Amino acid sequence: MSALQALPLLGQSYDELELWLTSLGEPAYRARQLHQWLYTRNLQSLQEVTVFSKRWREAHADVPVGRSKVLLKTPSRDGTVKYLLGLKDGETIEAVGIPTAKRLSVCVSSQVGCPMACTFCATGKSGFARNLEVHEILDQVLTVQADFGRRVTHIVFMGMGEPLLNLKNLYTTVLRLNQDLGISQRNITISTVGVKGRIQALAQYKLQTTLAVSLHAPNQQLRCQLIPTAAFYPIEALLAECQVYVELTGRRLTFEYTLLKNINDQQAHARELAHRVRGFQSHINLIPYNPISDADYQRPSPRQIQTFLQVLENQRIPASVRQTRGVEESSACGQLRRQTLPEQEFVPECS
Ligand code: SAH
Repeated sequence: MSALQALPLLGQSYDELELWLTSLGEPAYRARQLHQWLYTRNLQSLQEVTVFSKRWREAHADVPVGRSKVLLKTPSRDGTVKYLLGLKDGETIEAVGIPTAKRLSVCVSSQVGCPMACTFCATGKSGFARNLEVHEILDQVLTVQADFGRRVTHIVFMGMGEPLLNLKNLYTTVLRLNQDLGISQRNITISTVGVKGRIQALAQYKLQTTLAVSLHAPNQQLRCQLIPTAAFYPIEALLAECQVYVELTGRRLTFEYTLLKNINDQQAHARELAHRVRGFQSHINLIPYNPISDADYQRPSPRQIQTFLQVLENQRIPASVRQTRGVEESSACGQLRRQTLPEQEFVPECS
């Protein structure tokens, strides 16, 4: 393996692939071929690239492509499919493919576990191990794309982890998704619970992605009860940073609000929320709580959810309720976690 090629191939730009191949004495057009196999053909190993000579492939057999292993595939009745992926160091992550007639979205993880430990989210309950590398995030998208046999059109960074704690890899991944997989930046949503200074840092990249901010409460006191890390980052400071983001990027943002029965779902909360976000170029996305095994929360009734929405609408605050997908197979928002597989469930490859 040459020094230039210590990193996995996945995650490298066209120019980087070209640099590597020409440094090995290959003609520049080889980069186009390798790029195509890598990003559109679900390449698992360099051995499969039959346009390269057998001798060349054997000589570079140790060059890693950077794909993970599908350990388990869990389809839901509504068409979503959850994938448990095994990483090189033995850690596991989950990703979800969410199809509609016109779209194929992938809910990707950005970390192994999550250090933010929001009280209603399964991911935080399983602890935190590390940030994901660029190739480990891209792999999730390529896995879903290959398995569904159709192009991925949308990405949501709403799987495991806090994406803004992995900002550099997040940025490179967005570039690769856009430039190499052809996914429009506008179809990529980055969801964050807020990390001091990081929303502004993201704004400096001047991406056209959509930012979703997990607010979940209209005031600091309630927010701290639900999100322990909010104690270090007052809601006023978070919203001020959001305002800077809107000014720097010219993009509207989304506020996510997970509705928890009798906790943050009362009409008074809705009124306070409306007051908080008034004047923002924003949209509120209400997420009915998805049950997880190790938390005591409950989902409000459909009527309570509608009432909450109605209060926001009466206050002329743009809002909608997120449609829940994959909830019975624990594939919905906040239900993903690090898992080890019971022996008998092990499926070596997914078909
Ligand atoms: N770390 C990111 C992504 C989390 S998942 C963030 O915090 O924004 C995407 C959304 O689902 C977040 O708004 C998250 O707070 C919410 N969520 C987490 N657990 C949930 C649950 N059990 N039910 C409903 N929404 C949940």
